[in-house]
Amino acid sequence: MCSIGEDDFGDEGGLHAMVKDVQISPIQAETEICKKCDSSNKATVKLMFRDQECTDCFLVYARHKFRATLGSSKILPKDSEVLLIFDGSSEALVLLDMLHYAQSQNKFKRLHCSTKILYIDESSINKKTCNLKEIKSFLNSYDFPAFAINIASKSLECHELQSFSSTNDGNSEWVENYTALKSTTTRKDLLEVHRKKLIESVTKQLKCGFVFFPQISTQLASTLLTNVALGRGASVASDVALVDNRFPGIKIVRPLKDLNQEEVDVYLKVRGLKTLCPEFSESSKETSIQSITKSFVNGLQKDYSSTVSTIFRTGGKIASKDSSKLCSYCKSPLDIEESETLLATEFSRIVSENANQDEVTESVNKLEKLALQGLHDGDLAHLCHGCRNIHRDFPLEFLL
Ligand SMILES: [Zn+2]
Ligand SMILES: [Zn+2]
Repeated sequence: MCSIGEDDFGDEGGLHAMVKDVQISPIQAETEICKKCDSSNKATVKLMFRDQECTDCFLVYARHKFRATLGSSKILPKDSEVLLIFDGSSEALVLLDMLHYAQSQNKFKRLHCSTKILYIDESSINKKTCNLKEIKSFLNSYDFPAFAINIASKSLECHELQSFSSTNDGNSEWVENYTALKSTTTRKDLLEVHRKKLIESVTKQLKCGFVFFPQISTQLASTLLTNVALGRGASVASDVALVDNRFPGIKIVRPLKDLNQEEVDVYLKVRGLKTLCPEFSESSKETSIQSITKSFVNGLQKDYSSTVSTIFRTGGKIASKDSSKLCSYCKSPLDIEESETLLATEFSRIVSENANQDEVTESVNKLEKLALQGLHDGDLAHLCHGCRNIHRDFPLEFLL
């Protein structure tokens, strides 16, 4: 049996248990040739843990990762209808380009599916978002039918991208409530769940059975840590899985889950593609749980990439609890039932709320009864712990 005590870690905590990456030296001479193929192609790419290679060999390697991920569990039956979520980010560009390539192969190698693209326009809540004109012109160069939806959509229905305008179908009340949110953490959490809600609706409208999300390994590691911190542990397995079956009749697939940031950057460079959104250059002053976790994971990725991969792979080992009851907003298993931790959290909230009322606080039984009532009360009983946290600052009518 093995046991690890605190003394084993010394003054540096568990730091010595993490293996620092060996820094790679860039390709030296212009005459260096590819070590992967027999040709005399010039080596232009040097990835961590791989020999220097030519552009062709790199593309074969990166595209194979994508195909192998899809093929490994035979998730995509022939002639499936796929909806690709395109947000203009570098990962979305890579996914679109790889899918397009896979579908333009000869009939033996071709990925047999039919693809539609969905762009979610966020200009009603974010002034620094992508330029719609640029998105339209870029997606026009790929021959996939493209659609768009307003993030604040009232009807939850999409429109053809080329005729879409940012003012289409906006729900000003939703926008007002969203912009009034003071906490950036809540805002980001709400947006994350809300996007999935829109995607679910559009996927049904377009009669697609599969949705492709462009998340890569670093982002999934960050999602895993973030969602645990947000009290969304009950859904974390689905949040980072290759296939997320949360929505009935729809499979959310993450075909880039084995790619890392370095591979995405090199792919874009090699294919001459450029990110369409400013995004993602988030303000360094921002202090949400999501952005702090993201910069922590990105920092780890630079020097301790294998640790990031360990975090991300942990997600695959977590099994979600089967529950017949689902949260009405995020569709995750309802974690309120039989959770002593959540009962304790509610208990502590009731104590703080009634700190000045002796007749309430003097009886533990009374407090426990109130806490149980709080957990199972009315409409709130349909929300998971994470979504209840959003509800503290956001009207319930938008969450049910
Ligand atoms: Zn080569
Ligand atoms: Zn929920």
